[in-house]
Amino acid sequence: MVNFGPLTAESKLLLQRFNRSFTRYAIGLGKQDLRILVGLLTGHNWLNRHMSVMGLRENPKCPLCDEEDETSLHLLSKCPATMLCRNALLAAYQLSPLDLRGIHWAGLTY
Ligand SMILES: [Zn+2]
Repeated sequence: MVNFGPLTAESKLLLQRFNRSFTRYAIGLGKQDLRILVGLLTGHNWLNRHMSVMGLRENPKCPLCDEEDETSLHLLSKCPATMLCRNALLAAYQLSPLDLRGIHWAGLTY
């Protein structure tokens, strides 16, 4: 299994157990795509919540909806601004963390 380091809130919700198919998928990614995937799964990424925790931005809110902090979980599961894209890719307007655990990440590419 790919080692993502210490578990964050996102990784605790999204990565519950070893998944051979997901591991093969992650290992097969190029460096850039793997970096994006790890950022989405761990929450250690360029989004406002993490950047504000790091002291690099003042506002942790999602700039698309301004309703919640901008995290990967927010964008993937319930941001109203990404709802149509989420429905096109994952056939659901909103997803719970439990729903996200069941998707294959290869399905997130256009
Ligand atoms: Zn949003």
